[in-house]
Amino acid sequence: MPHKDPNCIFCKIVDRSISSTTVFEDDEIYVFPDIHPQAPVHLLIIPKDHVLRSVAEMSEADTAFVGRMVYRAKLLAEERGIDTDGYRLVFNVRHHGGQEVDHIHLHLLGGQKLGPLG
Ligand code: AMP
Ligand code: ZN
Repeated sequence: MPHKDPNCIFCKIVDRSISSTTVFEDDEIYVFPDIHPQAPVHLLIIPKDHVLRSVAEMSEADTAFVGRMVYRAKLLAEERGIDTDGYRLVFNVRHHGGQEVDHIHLHLLGGQKLGPLG
């Protein structure tokens, strides 16, 4: 898979051709606010490279990287002060999972009591 997909909106956010607010970045991860927040805190944690479309494409070699995405979400939840009350981490996967953007991403949702999954 190419490292960037010219038609991918998340690749465009990473390369700044679509504007967003950088919440966190390092050499492999980029974090920005969801444009349609479903909770007071709603961040998207993504790889900077277009390496995987979704969890469904993961191989064992990707487990450490995806673990770092989850760990980054945990650190951001602490930074935002939502860790004690709790939060939700969501990977939507493909059509039935409600995935709209085919660049793997982790939703971090919190800041209020969330409803049941539906
Ligand atoms: P998913 O449904 O899991 O694929 O999530 C894609 C998410 O990307 C949705 O929650 C959208 O609101 C969000 N989104 C789409 N375009 C943008 C954008 N330009 N900036 C920030 N978030 C976006
Ligand atoms: Zn992409």
